[in-house]
Amino acid sequence: MLRRAYGPEPLGETLAHVFEQFEGAKDFLFDSVNQVSMRSWHSGRTVLLGDAAWCMTLYSGMGASLGLAGGSLLGELLSRHPHEIDTALRTWEDRLMPFACQHQRSALIKAQFFTPSSPSIDILCKGLMPRAQGKKRSEGAPTALEQFLSGPVNVEFAA
Ligand SMILES: Cc1cc2nc3c(=O)[nH]c(=O)nc-3n(C[C@H](O)[C@H](O)[C@H](O)COP(=O)(O)OP(=O)(O)OC[C@H]3O[C@@H](n4cnc5c(N)ncnc54)[C@H](O)[C@@H]3O)c2cc1C
Repeated sequence: MLRRAYGPEPLGETLAHVFEQFEGAKDFLFDSVNQVSMRSWHSGRTVLLGDAAWCMTLYSGMGASLGLAGGSLLGELLSRHPHEIDTALRTWEDRLMPFACQHQRSALIKAQFFTPSSPSIDILCKGLMPRAQGKKRSEGAPTALEQFLSGPVNVEFAA
């Protein structure tokens, strides 16, 4: 079925090797990648955190960091508002949600570098990659592509 999906064109060395291994494998895992999008991460005193609340997918490269940062900010706000849990939780969401949403949006674009949604996007990504990487570095400065893949910066959500 997979071979059929890839059509009659030659597979190339890497993909041919993957298919060969796949066909000889005893079992396999076929998975999909999904984002979690919610209007609110809490209900009363029940809170969702990390991937359960805002999963951005592996393409963002930020899931572990934001899980930790989100937990830390939540702890900080709860300690500042020990008797106003709702205020703490609303403030937490207001601070964190724009950052999480921004990374979710950028993850959708980054995903195109790994799994292009069409042949034309694939050609575009392949064209962008060497151009962005080919820029001469000054003193270890990141390339345009590295800057893009490292995601949005200067987004403040400190308590
Ligand atoms: C292939 C891949 C590559 C990634 N690469 C990066 C990367 O380079 N950088 C980055 O920052 N992030 C990356 N991520 C994302 C990152 O792994 C997640 O965003 C992060 O682990 C989320 O942490 P979490 O604690 O919210 O959830 P999880 O790490 O998923 O932790 C949830 C835990 O709850 C447990 N659990 C589930 N249900 C129950 C239950 N009913 N009872 C008890 N326990 C339960 C699970 O077993 C799990 O241990 C990647 C993810 C994947 C899949």
